Amino acid sequence: METRTNGRKGPRTDLLSPDPTERIAAEPIYQGDVDTGKTVVVCGAGGFIGGHLVADLLRQGYDTVRAVDIKPPAHWFQKFDQADNRSLDLREKENCYQALEGADQVYNLAADMGGMGFIENNKALCMLSVRINTHLLMAARDMDIGRYFYSSSACVYNQELQDTSDVEPLAEEDAYPALAEDGYGWEKLFSERMCRHFREDFDLTTRVARYHNVYGPFGTYDGGREKAPAALTRKAIEAKLSGSGDIVIWGDGTQTRSFMYVDDCVKGTQKIMHSDITEPINLGSDELVTINGLVDVIEKAVEVDLGREYDRTKPQGVDGRNSDNTKILQELGWEPPTALRDGMEVTAEWIEEQIRRHAEEETTSRFAVAH
Ligand code: NAD
Repeated sequence: METRTNGRKGPRTDLLSPDPTERIAAEPIYQGDVDTGKTVVVCGAGGFIGGHLVADLLRQGYDTVRAVDIKPPAHWFQKFDQADNRSLDLREKENCYQALEGADQVYNLAADMGGMGFIENNKALCMLSVRINTHLLMAARDMDIGRYFYSSSACVYNQELQDTSDVEPLAEEDAYPALAEDGYGWEKLFSERMCRHFREDFDLTTRVARYHNVYGPFGTYDGGREKAPAALTRKAIEAKLSGSGDIVIWGDGTQTRSFMYVDDCVKGTQKIMHSDITEPINLGSDELVTINGLVDVIEKAVEVDLGREYDRTKPQGVDGRNSDNTKILQELGWEPPTALRDGMEVTAEWIEEQIRRHAEEETTSRFAVAH
């Protein structure tokens, strides 16, 4: 575990101020040598990881950080007035040329995605994200972009290697022979290959990371696109606040996963972007935990004892998935260090704050309507 600049071990709480200007005044997460005169574009900047990445690029002092998302900026998870914020649908080719104008580096984190509940029920929508990466790559090639990063996923891995909770960690070569997650995983695998062929055929410098389940503050925690850590944390907080004490878990709770704290994702993404690693590489934690084990961690973070019901009719994904970090350790001498217990403590605190604030806002607006 790294010692952080704010004097405590584990995730940095100084990056969570409700004031975006204070958040970017903090010390950068990524500490490498960078040319801050470059123009950097983050696609999908209104989303969870994109928002954290924009914050960190601004912390490093880049002159121009362009933040692009299909959502209007008012709906972004984090928005920084210091960035060049643009609302563009990157499925459209001409918008990609607009987004990348004058850019030196591009991070493509834009995708129509969500947790298991979303990707199992929206396979075609997930596959249509192929238009985003295709048109961005074409624009990057035509506009001579220096470096292009693509956020792939552990969902590219062959599903037959993930049919037991006692799973072998997935190494990069386990994506082939290919049997990716239907819809979302196949789109990611195809887009990875597009990056490879644009590098080989057109000399575009592309970098690809396969993210394994990312969690943290400023992520989706309700509405249907949330992933297991945020969904279970929200349920635990609601059970605590309502006094019911019970939650429903999707599946039988024995599925295993690893979860990466978002600061580690932001750091690893930039390390990979600036590296010589040309092939897709795992970016994930290798701390394997069952979903029941995750709920144990959440109970401690939220300070509640939960009754657990299991709904086996709901999507639960593969039986087991873990990240083999041999390659990233070899290449970068680094792997995501944050312990699940530490990251979930900060995440649960943030989600509880949001839930309490929304409840207060609702009460105030009901009171205002009634009077
Ligand atoms: P997110 O959904 O919070 O962010 C994605 C953003 O892309 C959203 O704000 C969305 O509005 C935007 N977007 C969608 N369609 C767009 C379009 N046509 N034009 C412009 N913007 C568009 O997701 P995230 O968790 O921040 O994930 C970022 C990337 O990392 C995605 O590519 C995702 O597939 C990948 N990934 C994430 C995880 C994870 O656990 N969060 C795991 C593996 C891979």
